[in-house]
Amino acid sequence: MPVTNLEAGEWALAAAAAAGAFHAANVFYAGSQWFIHADRRITDAGAVALTFDDGPHPVFTPAVAETLAALNVPAAFFLIGRYVREQPALTRDLAAAGHVLGNHTWDHHRWGVFGSSRYWHEQLARTNDAIAAAAGRPAMLFRPPMGFKTWRQAKALKAMNLRVAAWRLRAFDTLPISAAAIARRIGEQACGGDIITLHDGLEPARRTCSQEQTCRALPEIIKRLRDRGLRFVSLTHGLNLPAAPAIAAPPEAKA
Ligand SMILES: [Zn+2]
Repeated sequence: MPVTNLEAGEWALAAAAAAGAFHAANVFYAGSQWFIHADRRITDAGAVALTFDDGPHPVFTPAVAETLAALNVPAAFFLIGRYVREQPALTRDLAAAGHVLGNHTWDHHRWGVFGSSRYWHEQLARTNDAIAAAAGRPAMLFRPPMGFKTWRQAKALKAMNLRVAAWRLRAFDTLPISAAAIARRIGEQACGGDIITLHDGLEPARRTCSQEQTCRALPEIIKRLRDRGLRFVSLTHGLNLPAAPAIAAPPEAKA
């Protein structure tokens, strides 16, 4: 039976819908590797890597850093560039404490996933410049807001030699959730090799919220995972990456 125009049109519509669904799944699913490779696990099966997003925040980031220092735990902080500009000393302190600094865009715009290649280049370059100015070295890792990856990020990532780090387990600590629930979720669900995501900061759209529950949960998370025999390693170590090269002394260090 010959295919009529209507049938051909229906096939075209179905193909377009399928392509759209495939495309959306690869943009919005944080674990997708279609457009860009993203690490979700580290190579050390006896360890986990803690990561904190959306800082630096003047209250919650020092609280998290204090707990990490007291319990001798390294972490990675995926920083929002405009907050780095507001908090250069805090950014420098994180680097000085041995934590990994990552790029988490300039302003964490929720619609940024629809931005052009040029938009993404500006978001990443501006943030890496701010991190380098504050801490003396640029970020080597990038985490897209909400984990949304598009092919338009790829060119900028390559130009800046940035690798994408996603996560295997997250705390959902940007939603209303108690410290006990965060500690229970991470404490019970973490597996060796996991990259774990928490939040020490507040993206611009939630700037009036609080991450106090994350700060309160952190000692219990660390205790529970150590009780299960897991170690904590830095994300760069876990991914077998070298430390970021220093490009210049921070302004204060020069004086
Ligand atoms: Zn974020």
